[in-house]
Amino acid sequence: MDIVLEICDYFIFDKLYAAALPKGGKVDQFLQNSPVVQQVSSKVSQYLPASATASGYDPLDSAIFANSTSSHASNALSFQFNSTSINFANIPSYLWAKFMSLQNKSEIYGLKPIFLPEGDYFSSSILSRSNILRESLSILVVTTIFGWLLYLIVAYFSYVFVFDKKIFNHPRYLKNQMWLEIERAMTAIPVMVALTNPFFLLELKGFSRLYFDINESTGGWKFLLLSIPMFILFTDCLIYFIHRWLHWPSVYKRLHKPHHKWIVCTPFASHAFHPVDGWAQSLPYHLYPLFFPLHKVLYLGLFTFVNFWTVMIHDGNYMSNDPVVNGTACHTVHHLYFNYNYGQFTTLWDRIGRSYRRPDDSFFVKDTDDEKEKQEWKKQVTQMEEIRNELEGKVDDREYNESI
Ligand SMILES: [Zn+2]
Ligand SMILES: [Zn+2]
Repeated sequence: MDIVLEICDYFIFDKLYAAALPKGGKVDQFLQNSPVVQQVSSKVSQYLPASATASGYDPLDSAIFANSTSSHASNALSFQFNSTSINFANIPSYLWAKFMSLQNKSEIYGLKPIFLPEGDYFSSSILSRSNILRESLSILVVTTIFGWLLYLIVAYFSYVFVFDKKIFNHPRYLKNQMWLEIERAMTAIPVMVALTNPFFLLELKGFSRLYFDINESTGGWKFLLLSIPMFILFTDCLIYFIHRWLHWPSVYKRLHKPHHKWIVCTPFASHAFHPVDGWAQSLPYHLYPLFFPLHKVLYLGLFTFVNFWTVMIHDGNYMSNDPVVNGTACHTVHHLYFNYNYGQFTTLWDRIGRSYRRPDDSFFVKDTDDEKEKQEWKKQVTQMEEIRNELEGKVDDREYNESI
């Protein structure tokens, strides 16, 4: 995220923040003359080591994230859990100090430029690049726009070149379904991004294990290549369990049902979730770099790949019936029959969890005549309705294009 944010700061945001909240401007003067702000600022400074203020942190930022060597924190670090003298009042500051000890201070974003020069507006705004409020707002804007574009462009190309449009005639295709999918996804993406903001901030404040230099100390190219299957296997496992949790009846009704509104899908269903559902299923992608070393550019690549994959498994084009890969056919089974194939990339956890269902053979028969196709769809609908009744109850509030 720091690479993306530095590019945006250099070309756009430094200038925008300098224009909106310039140093020496009205807001700056107000803040400097306000007794309340002065009081808060001096209180915060009491708890800061000289090095933090000297290195250019915002006092507010520093109070939240910057350094762990304040007198409070260092006292807490020396706290010992021995049976005779536990002072419970120390526990919160002990935990805070432990948390702060995970921070890699050389990876804190915004104190000095890394990839690009400073530029004319680098320190022209009262909100510096490392200011947590500025970072939150910038991430919200950048990631939402990136998310929208990636979703619309990939789904559009999939719709034009890959998607099997016969699905429009399926008896369980909804009225105006594609527009409903787009509306759901476009409104969900900004909320998903806002919910993910704390993870992006942890990265920007140096709490992740993301790295940039490829050398012996970071495991070289070998480790970089190995991180691809590690990332896929880690996220595949966690998503499986999160997805199963989303199918618990009480959670399903509240969070996951909007994504199962689509019995048959178009590529635009890929991001059409309740925002909390989409956020929950994306959590493993953000947890991985907090625990495992991962190259920054590779992370961006994997993040983009994940979005491609999500679109692809909703495009109804059954290219492979691979027993290991959880491809489009497997996810189509999930949308049709609900309680099977919860996985994202592989069928491994569905096989272990006994929820794997082999896709119908009829999916892979090319050039089926219309009559035969209709019979297949009828069979699917009969099976689907039985499972749907059990999961959602007799009443179905979906409005279909036509009924059979
Ligand atoms: Zn599901
Ligand atoms: Zn889906």
